[in-house]
Amino acid sequence: MRLSFHGAAREVTGSCHQVDCGESTILVDCGLFQGKNDERNADAFQFHPDQIDAVVLTHAHIDHSGRLPLLAKRGFRGPIYAHPATRDLCQILLRDSAFIHEKDAEWESRRRAKKGKDPVEPLYTQQDAELVMKQFKTIPYAQEQKILPNFSVCFRDAGHILGSSIVELTTCTGEHRRKLVFSGDLGHSGTPILRDPVNLEQADLVLMESTYGDREHRAWDATWSELGEILNAANHENGNILIPAFSVGRTQELLYAFQQHYEEWNLGRWKIYLDSPLAIEATKIYRGHHEVYDAEAEAVVRQQGSSLDLPNLEFCPDVEDSMRLNDMASGAIIIAGSGMCTGGRIRHHLQHHGVRPNCQVIIVGFQAQGTLGRALVDGKRDVRLYGEEVHLAAKVHTIGGLSAHADATGLASWYGHFKNRPPLVLIHGEEKAMDALAERLRQEFSPPTILCPQPGESVDLNHLLGGVTP
Ligand SMILES: [Zn+2]
Repeated sequence: MRLSFHGAAREVTGSCHQVDCGESTILVDCGLFQGKNDERNADAFQFHPDQIDAVVLTHAHIDHSGRLPLLAKRGFRGPIYAHPATRDLCQILLRDSAFIHEKDAEWESRRRAKKGKDPVEPLYTQQDAELVMKQFKTIPYAQEQKILPNFSVCFRDAGHILGSSIVELTTCTGEHRRKLVFSGDLGHSGTPILRDPVNLEQADLVLMESTYGDREHRAWDATWSELGEILNAANHENGNILIPAFSVGRTQELLYAFQQHYEEWNLGRWKIYLDSPLAIEATKIYRGHHEVYDAEAEAVVRQQGSSLDLPNLEFCPDVEDSMRLNDMASGAIIIAGSGMCTGGRIRHHLQHHGVRPNCQVIIVGFQAQGTLGRALVDGKRDVRLYGEEVHLAAKVHTIGGLSAHADATGLASWYGHFKNRPPLVLIHGEEKAMDALAERLRQEFSPPTILCPQPGESVDLNHLLGGVTP
């Protein structure tokens, strides 16, 4: 039995792990590398796609699912197992990803045409994304299912985004049974709407993410108070509020928080616009999956008859709806993509509203180096938008505590529930975070092995687990 790490090894994107057991080969996740124009996405896979028997998907985020249409385009014909909500989210996220690849290829082809060069093909098309959806098969939480003669899977709630799953993968050849547990992206306990990650007690090997292995999040109460204070202060400024939003997860958490604190934050005096077609679709999918809500969110649905709804919330699916907002000088909370201001409608709103000193920009998520969002957080106010130099006079606030990932204490505590202290593989983390977490786990729990694999590394499980494995 072998494990090979094709992505998210010493980095946080491109999740793709191969498990070979007996005659069968499966992948856990098949995600995009999300660095700017990362050329590895178009590279040949380090395996033959037509020799993969099945894919098991932890969740819908594109760094875990985004190369699936390419995998199918290059010959993979097997089933893709996922939670029903993950399937629904992939439907919109893969289509959106394909659309972006088509647009990028069109732009690049036009650029090349000017130099007399041949056009380029998109990584995959919307049609490829449609086709791969036919290969999805869904499994709800806590139902063990045999997916191949020597593999069975059971999904457990990972509490990260809707449908996100910890994967218990049991391999069975002859008399040997081994349980590998992939954490997937592990949620931040206390996240609105979703349940906390399920704790497990037994595994032969644990493969755990380590994104925030060197950091702690603020307490939820402090985070909500901070957001409330900004919103209440904005009441006196008589301007608009812009929130660059991540379409899946953060947007829905915000809407839920608005619903919970509606009176306290005096939200009735605002008009709230969700100005992102993708976030609107994702919100509808969140509304349709009450079965995975936590007890509090379920109670809201029971009492109010709906979730993620507000009397003054308006969806803006079309460009015309979005452009209408240009004329509003005050009283609007505009939630628009993209989350790091790298594209999407938020850039138009920054250009129109961000130039006014009574405008507030609230940053609610991680901002990568090199993005406009990061520049704003770092205090830059003279920026380029649509080829023009723009001075942003708006106040920029950063809410640090909202994260969809467990922090270092959350990760350590999750591993700490495994009573037998199984060997551990750390994935999905940058080196610094991974090393810090490995050190902490060594001190707290002394696991027999902690492996931090290199990209492309392949390990024989005999070495990792000891004893004979097929
Ligand atoms: Zn994720």
